[in-house]
Amino acid sequence: MKAQFISSALLAAGLLAGCSKSDTTPAATAAAPAATAATPAPAPAAGPRTIAIQAGDATNAMKYDVTSIEAKPGEQLKVVLTNAGTLPKTAMGHNWVLLKAGSDPAAFATAGSTAAATGYIPDALKDQMIAHIDLLGPKESGEATFTAPTTPGDYPFLCTFPAHFLIGMKGTLTVK
Ligand code: ZN
Repeated sequence: MKAQFISSALLAAGLLAGCSKSDTTPAATAAAPAATAATPAPAPAAGPRTIAIQAGDATNAMKYDVTSIEAKPGEQLKVVLTNAGTLPKTAMGHNWVLLKAGSDPAAFATAGSTAAATGYIPDALKDQMIAHIDLLGPKESGEATFTAPTTPGDYPFLCTFPAHFLIGMKGTLTVK
């Protein structure tokens, strides 16, 4: 048993640097609690890459603080939008809508601006969306987990609350 633990620990120490699998780690930890030197560099976390976007603070009320996102084709992404403002949702709500390539964000925003009942998401144009985060009131957060398009290109995102797109509440996801 002991020899097996030691060989597991050596194996783990040798492999962990280049390998994110951790199925040998428990044995290595149990057998060699003092072997702190074997602690590997943190492996990349599994799951989607998180992109945090804030909107609606005092100095930047109708903008996203992230307007440019780069992704690899087919990358798993999680966008987390936080409305940092204090005004009521009906006066200063924010959402986040990512559109397919070739969609017209201005037309989408125009259609959305009258669709209050659906959080300013225009039902008729729903099939142009890749992902979206519903309308957020003050201090609320929402998220969308999705797969980036596999086709390189620029994909527009925007807030469809009335007038926000026109004022500049928009950005671009670039897949390359
Ligand atoms: Zn907005």
